[in-house]
Amino acid sequence: MTGNVIVLGAGIVGACTALRLADAGWNVTLCDGGRPGGEEAASYGNGGWISPASIIPMSFPGIWRKVPGYLLDRSGPLTIDWTSIPRLAPWLLRFLLAGATEGRVAKIASHLNSLLHDAPERHLALAERIGRRQLIVQRGLLYAYPDRAEYEAESLSWRLRRENGVAFEEWDESELRRHLPALGPNFRFGAYVTKGAHCINTGAYVAGIVDAAITAGVRFIQKSANSILTTPTPRVVLTGGESLAADYVVVAAGIHSKRLMREFGTKIPMESERGYHVTVTSGDVPFDIPVMPSTGKMANTPTEMGLRLSGQVELATIEKAPNWRRAEVLQSHALASYPYLAKEKQPDLKLWMGHRPSTPDGLPVIGSLKRHSGIIAAFGHGHVGLASGPKTADLVLHALEQRPPEQEGAFLPARFGY
Ligand SMILES: Cc1cc2nc3c(=O)[nH]c(=O)nc-3n(C[C@H](O)[C@H](O)[C@H](O)COP(=O)(O)OP(=O)(O)OC[C@H]3O[C@@H](n4cnc5c(N)ncnc54)[C@H](O)[C@@H]3O)c2cc1C
Repeated sequence: MTGNVIVLGAGIVGACTALRLADAGWNVTLCDGGRPGGEEAASYGNGGWISPASIIPMSFPGIWRKVPGYLLDRSGPLTIDWTSIPRLAPWLLRFLLAGATEGRVAKIASHLNSLLHDAPERHLALAERIGRRQLIVQRGLLYAYPDRAEYEAESLSWRLRRENGVAFEEWDESELRRHLPALGPNFRFGAYVTKGAHCINTGAYVAGIVDAAITAGVRFIQKSANSILTTPTPRVVLTGGESLAADYVVVAAGIHSKRLMREFGTKIPMESERGYHVTVTSGDVPFDIPVMPSTGKMANTPTEMGLRLSGQVELATIEKAPNWRRAEVLQSHALASYPYLAKEKQPDLKLWMGHRPSTPDGLPVIGSLKRHSGIIAAFGHGHVGLASGPKTADLVLHALEQRPPEQEGAFLPARFGY
């Protein structure tokens, strides 16, 4: 079964989807107003982690007790912009409820596990397919803690990972020093996710996937969609007024999917968990295993561009200007984690802010809409969009082929009534 498909958005999700559908024989048009791999997409600036351990949602039991602290602590890993609260309140409420019990968190973790358990293998195969095998490195991923007690404080997360088959080793201080001498003495315990992988140039990776898709027959149009018309058959109106018809439209525009869907009355609860990166572009990175220090909850990734420090969750509307104070927080955590950085007097830094497209339940929205035939959602990947891009592309193909959904339909837009 094949036909014509328009894919909107050439971030990691749209790029993987366009290539997968073309390889399966579909006639694909990919539209994005930006340059594939460009800085405006979340897929450009993320931490590059492809972690089978990223199955724990942000919402967990008792998080509501921490909200006042998040509002006050300007240097914590999660902040909420006061002025955005009226707009974000409905989403925040659903977010708090989504992880209110251990049972709910366990269910979300098992659904995320279905997206992520083989993510490293999928990316290695994809990188091979596009001729950029060097961009994906499988050297494991380290979650570093000041001591065993801090690690055990996250016992629910690690128990759920173990129950879902995520392979990891516990490293004591001597093991940590042996593998990562660059890590400061304030870290004395680690959990090493053995199968974890990372991408050393996320922008080039997305651009490479789109190049391969074009070679496979995908037509790329560098224009944004202004709107999607759903009746009588799917149609997309691009900037400039050009209108394209297709059998299916896949909406993969990251955070901007919300607006496109709203235009035809589909109000998916999705907000931006804004995140930042600082890339130290000067000097060598003296370690090759990516690290997530528990103190800053940030991904520290050796990349082709230098050491990328990425993280911070800032709940704010997408229109707000970046708050570069968040990037300074990342830098100060890095200085406290890696003594070698303090030796460099004036490092060259590149700062960036992007939007994690996040649903309140921490699960992406993938699949056909009930009320609008021919429209397929592929967005809302929050913290795991890079890692789960190739699997998402497979799920979109399943939707086009009208196969029954996986995971009890956990990713379907139907869970929000659409
Ligand atoms: C700081 C930070 C760190 C992160 N770290 C990780 C990590 O280590 N691992 C991981 O797996 N995930 C990580 N993420 C999350 C990940 O980056 C996102 O989930 C993922 O990039 C989302 O991909 P996407 O393709 O849905 O959206 P995007 O990458 O945002 O792409 C959307 C595309 O749609 C285009 N578009 C917008 N409007 C339109 C329109 N009207 N018509 C057509 N096209 C349109 C945009 O130009 C853009 O190219 C991180 C995110 C951030 C912010």
